[in-house]
This record gives sequence, C-alpha cells and structure tokens, in this order.
Amino acid sequence: MQMNNIWVDGTYWAYRMNSRYLQERQYYEDTYDRQTVEEARRCMDRYKKACTEFEKKLPKNDNINRTGNAILLNILYMQVVGNELLYRYENRDSNIAKRIEIDRAKDKRLSDSRLTDEPYCQHCSKQGLRIIDKMLLYKDKYDPNMPEEVLFMLRCPHCKKRSAFWEDGNEWKSSPTLCPKCQTEMDYKTSETKKVLIFTYTCPSCSHSYEDKTTKAHNKEKTDPNYNKDRAHFCLLDNEFRNRLVKSRHNIEEMAKVGKEYIEKEAEKPIYDAIQKMKRPKIAELAILLSPELEKAGFIEFRLDKPEVGKDVIIGFSCLDNKSERNDYDSERILKKTIKKVLSDTNWRLMSDGIHYRLGYLSGRIRAYEREEELKDLVRKTK
Ligand SMILES: [Zn+2]
Ligand SMILES: [Zn+2]
Repeated sequence: MQMNNIWVDGTYWAYRMNSRYLQERQYYEDTYDRQTVEEARRCMDRYKKACTEFEKKLPKNDNINRTGNAILLNILYMQVVGNELLYRYENRDSNIAKRIEIDRAKDKRLSDSRLTDEPYCQHCSKQGLRIIDKMLLYKDKYDPNMPEEVLFMLRCPHCKKRSAFWEDGNEWKSSPTLCPKCQTEMDYKTSETKKVLIFTYTCPSCSHSYEDKTTKAHNKEKTDPNYNKDRAHFCLLDNEFRNRLVKSRHNIEEMAKVGKEYIEKEAEKPIYDAIQKMKRPKIAELAILLSPELEKAGFIEFRLDKPEVGKDVIIGFSCLDNKSERNDYDSERILKKTIKKVLSDTNWRLMSDGIHYRLGYLSGRIRAYEREEELKDLVRKTK
C-alpha cells in the first residue's frame, strides 16, 4: 500500500506540480486561515460547553446575563477562544514567512540533489534511465523531527517502466498489496475524476478486483457554507471585534497583575515589618554603639575614618588589641564576631574584604544599606 500512499497523501500534489513546494503567498495565507477557523471552531465548542456547565451551576434566582456573571463568562471566553484568536492573528505573518522558508528550502534541497551512481532499471536491469521527478519523503516512517529524503523517479527508455531510488542510491521498495483471496501481489491502475483519485486493484492470479477511492484535498472547502463568514470573524478582520479582544486581554492581565502584587505584598509583610523595626544609626552613633562592646572584648581606641560617600556609604575603622596573649587569628576572629553581633539589628554591615591585622592594630570597613531592595535582602539573609 505504500506506493499508493505516496500518490494519495499531500505528496501526490507535490508530484503533480513537478515537485515544487514553494507556492504563491495566497496559498499559505489560505492554509493558515483555514487552520485558524478549524481551531477556533473547536475552541468555540469547548466554550459553549463550559457556558452550559456554568449556567447549570448557577443558583435558581441567578441569571447568566447578570453583570458579574457576564464578566466571568468574558474571562472564560478569552481563556478558551479570544487569546488563541489574538495569538494566531499576531503570529500570522511570522508563521507564514516560516512556512514559505521551509518550502523554499525543500525546493533547494530537491534542485541540489544528485544521484551519485547511474542506477539500473529495477525491471530490465538496463541503464540510461531518465529522471522524471524528484520528491521529498520520509524514508522509513513518518517522523516530523527527522528531515525528509529525496526520492528520484526514473523512467526506463527500454522497458518504459518506472524505477525509484533514494538519493543515497538505495532502491525504493514498495510493500506489495496482496490479494485478500489468494495472497498474490495485485496489479493496479490509477485513474482520477475532478474530485477523487481511484486505484483499481486486480489480482493477476484469481482476477479478484476492487477499487480504492481517495477524495482530493482541494475540494473540501467548497462544502463549507459558513467558511467565509467564519474566516472574517475568527481571523479578526473586523477591527472593532479585534480591538475589543485586545482590550479584554489587557484588562484580564491587569487584574491578574494586581492580584499577584497583592499576594506578593502579603507574603512580604513580615519582611517589611522587619525593615520597619531595623535600627538605622547615624554615623556619629556608630562609635557609641560599637566602642563599649569592643572594649568588653578587649579592643580599645575604636575610631572611624572619614566616610566615603558614593553610591553607598562606606566607613573605615580601626582599633587596638588590648590582650597581649591573643594571636592575630583569634584577634581578627573575635573582632569580626563582635562587630557582626552589634550591627546585626541595624542597617550597617561589616564589608566582605574582612579585617586587617598588623602588630595588634586592626582595621576594616563597614557599609550602610539604604535602598529598599537591599534592605529586603538583608532581612532575608539575617533570617
Ligand atoms: Zn527497464
Ligand atoms: Zn487473487
């Protein structure tokens, strides 16, 4: 049956059109719009079903047309239908451009393809076959993630029969259609009318015969009386309708944003409370805050340098270790620990460049945190 499939699925038309994939732009626009209409009709079915469910669940004294309900239904409509229509409208051009590019690339792939070795006729084994067509097909099975491969159709000038070879030189093999009565391989003929493609299978052994008809894809749209009306509607050709959808989407997004901000604010309330409670000593107060605690830990003559005021306020400090038995490592460690502890409930922190020690003289830097984002981070880290 594989042989048949090649001719009856979309590729049949590729064959008919001499394997050229690239079409007029109108073709892509029509295809895209048809898909939009089909998708939109499915969405509308889902929406109508959801509306019915919604109405059933309303209390007896409520009315589906009440403003509150109408707002809910509009949100439902946007989620199920409206957003999809806008998405397809807004991506129409880029999608069409992409499809055109794919087909252009397919044509190029076809025109660049060559058979490296001269093939032998599959029927009479002679050479001198003429290429009558090329097409792109999946070699083993349909897999949209894999590239298609080029199949060459050739005609033998000696026996007039056709052969087919893949670009890599491998023969194309059909899985034969077997007679359902005696299992002999069936012969077949193709014929076509305006609307259908007919395969007539005949068994050479027992003469059993049957027909296989396939409707040509082209004729489908003629039997869709609502298509033009639906196309105009779902493809958003009406400015007023389109603008209304854009506005609805915007309003719903805004509502969601406000809700999200509210929830975030609630979640961050403890952090804001902690920032409120945080002490913010002035520079003059820092020495008063630190000196007594440092003296208790054995550090004297605590001094602050002149502050560096840039994007942040940074102040250098120094003091002397008053405990002669303490080594440099312990001295640095205890000073660090003491300063961290004293500053922990303020907006000041010891800077990460650490403490320098030389012959009992210690120095370092502290900085103030003032911006809201920094203060939030500080609270989160302290916790
Ligand atoms: Zn031949
Ligand atoms: Zn038979």
